[in-house]
Formats: sequence, C-alpha cells, structure tokens
Amino acid sequence: MSQAPIFPGTASPSGRPATLGVMGGGQLGRMFVHAAQRLGYFTAVLDADPQSPAGLVSHHHIQTGYSDAQGLAQLADVSDAITTEFENVPADALQTLAGTRPVAPGASVVAIAQNRIEEKSHFTACADVSGVTCAPYAVIQTEADLKAVPAALLPGIVKTARMGYDGKGQVRVKNAAELAAAWKDLKQVPCVLEKMMPLKDELSVIVARGWDGAMVGFAPQRNVHVDGILAVTHAYESNLPPELAARAQAATRSIASHIGYVGVLCVEFFVVDDGSAQGGLVVNEMAPRPHNSGHYTMDACDVSQFDLQVHAMTGLPLPAPRQHSPSIMLNLLGDIWFDAQGQSRTPDWQAVLALPGAHLHLYGKTEARRGRKMGHLNITGATLADVKATARRAAELLNLPGLE
Ligand code: ATP
Ligand code: MG
Repeated sequence: MSQAPIFPGTASPSGRPATLGVMGGGQLGRMFVHAAQRLGYFTAVLDADPQSPAGLVSHHHIQTGYSDAQGLAQLADVSDAITTEFENVPADALQTLAGTRPVAPGASVVAIAQNRIEEKSHFTACADVSGVTCAPYAVIQTEADLKAVPAALLPGIVKTARMGYDGKGQVRVKNAAELAAAWKDLKQVPCVLEKMMPLKDELSVIVARGWDGAMVGFAPQRNVHVDGILAVTHAYESNLPPELAARAQAATRSIASHIGYVGVLCVEFFVVDDGSAQGGLVVNEMAPRPHNSGHYTMDACDVSQFDLQVHAMTGLPLPAPRQHSPSIMLNLLGDIWFDAQGQSRTPDWQAVLALPGAHLHLYGKTEARRGRKMGHLNITGATLADVKATARRAAELLNLPGLE
C-alpha cells in the first residue's frame, strides 16, 4: 500500500488547511493533537463529551457518538486522514471513514485488537515467525465451554473478550466454582480464561509502520502495574536483559507486519519465570495506537510516539527515533488528589515542578477520580542515577506506588 504524503499547511482540494482527524477525545487523542498541531496540521476530534481532553484543544470537535452517521460524515468531510486513539471505537465506524479517507490503523486490524479472542488467534497465527506465544487460555462463550475448561488453566484470570482496559472486565479465579461465579458476574459475555502466569516482569514494545511497510521503533520499556493499571515505566539501557529485549522487538515487528499494520502499535509482553535466568517471553496483548508505556518518548526521545503516529498516517517519512536521556515515567492517577481521610487536595506541584528533569503532563481533566488517569510525570536526567533519585523524590512527594 502507498499513500501520497499529506503535508501540513497545504491547501487541500477543498481549499482548507490539511487536517488530521482522530476518533476519541481522551488523553492519547490530546497528545496526538498536540503533535499534529506542532507540525502545522489542523485537527478534528470526534467525541461526544464536550469536555473531552482532546476536544478541548482541537480546531474541530465533533460531539457525537462513534457510530453516528452524521458525525462520521462530518469528520470525513473536514479531515484529510483519520486515526483512532481508543481501540474500542467500533471497527465499522473506521470502515465507513475508510470509504472516503485514509484511515490508519485500519478497521480490520483494530477489530483484531478489540477482541481478545481474535487477538490471541492472531498471536498464535504469527507464533512461528514471532517466536512467542500467549499464555495458555480457553475461550468461554457457552456453558459447555465453561465445563470443558481444563484444570491446568487454574488459577487464572477471566477477561471479557471486548471492552477491557486498565484491568477492567477482569476477575482472578482460583478454582472452577469461582470461575463459574465470575463468568455469571460478567453477564456471561464471551470471555477468555488465561492461566495465571508467574510474572518476573512486564515489558512493552512500540513500533510505527508506514503505508509502504517501513518500520521504526523504540527500545522495549519495562512496566510496573499496580492493581492492573500501569504505574511506572522504566526506559533506559539496562532496564531489561538485552537478548530478551531483542526478541520482544523482533516479535513485535512480525506481529505488525503479519496484518499489514499502519500506524503506531504497542505490544505488551510478560516475562515469566520458567526456571531460566532471564525468564521466558509471553505475548499479552496489543494496543492499536500510542500507549501509556510510551509517554516517556515525549521528553526522552527526539521523536515521540505521537509524532510517529502523525508521520505514519500521513505518509511522511518515518525517522528512527533516538532516545537521548534515560527516563522513568510515573503515572498520575486521580488517587493523589485525595488525602488519607478522603478529602480532596491539590498535589504538591510546587515541589514537583522544582525537581530538575521532571516533566509534568496533565490532561486537562477537571474531575479527579480514584484510578482515573489524570496525567503523567516523565523524569529525565544526565545519568540513570540522577533519574532514579529524582523519580524517588517525586514518588515520595506525590505518594505514588510502584517504584521499587
Ligand atoms: P491495559 O489495556 O490497560 O493494558 P487490560 O485491562 O487490557 O490493561 P491486561 O493487560 O490483560 O489488561 O492485564 C492487566 C495486568 O494484569 C497485566 O499487565 C498484568 O500485570 C496482570 N495480568 C494480566 N493477565 C495476567 C496473567 N495471565 N497472569 C498474570 N498476570 C496477569
Ligand atoms: Mg494490558
């Protein structure tokens, strides 16, 4: 596939400035919009929420649902190319948009990523080339499936096939009785049961692939989750055994190529304790968009994951990113807006902003809720020791979990 480059500022045939559209108005959309605007593009966001983080900073904000025919027509009308920031946007909506505009990533690959059953089939289909498999699992769609679950998969985690993120739609189960109860609680929607893996570590790899198949990427990040939500990303040279990192990177490239992916893709992996010194690599899931674990690229690399999304979708060249500073990213959840008594408070930004190498990103969300992603703090420094010391200080000041 090829795509004639869409340059910023160029008057399109309709006489308006080149405009990039995005489905979804969350923080990923906002950071995408900022990257697009920095290059001179106009932007359009489709999100029903009048206060959506991306809608608030975009030239156009179309306030309709993702499947609204009029909203989609309006987005296609004002945009020269369209992307998505949310994997649960209905694939049909992307298909409709693709009728008139370049859409990256495409509907069929987003459809795979938004259904864990399809996603696991895809990982299995590329296992020969990628060299990695997913955790042992069973699909549960019927009572018969439930009864047929092998005991070897327990204890495990039941995950809804659709609409899961940040650990939502997941229940940890120890035995068959708990599994049956959990599936009932999940309203008996299609699910997968995954065997609980002995995790040594978690990592993710972010790549960007162009219309012509060219691919660039960042070095793998090591991620720490707390309560199923990303808390800390470690992005520096010694974060992972080099051989493991290289295997994860190669696997991600084959997972992207296998489906002709266009845009930024993140693949998450588990490092499992298999008795070997560095552990075995197991693929967890993929996100068809920039990812929370790649936010450090905004301050620690010369090209961010959002810049690459802009380049990939518009058919611009994909420069290989260079990380110029070791970095640790700390996620800022709504929890830190509450004190120990549950009273709301303002985090001590005064102290945090005084830390050299601390880059604060807040998403413009006015209501803090526990577990809600409100922002992140990227720490950079001349040396890894500096970065670690600053991250520890910031975590202390803000009472953040997950930094060992
Ligand atoms: P997100 O989209 O935010 O990454 P999610 O809701 O899609 O999250 P998963 O990535 O499936 O969820 O799981 C969240 C976390 O739960 C994982 O990062 C890992 O820490 C833990 N987890 C998930 N599956 C397993 C498993 N099979 N064994 C052990 N731990 C697991
Ligand atoms: Mg995940």
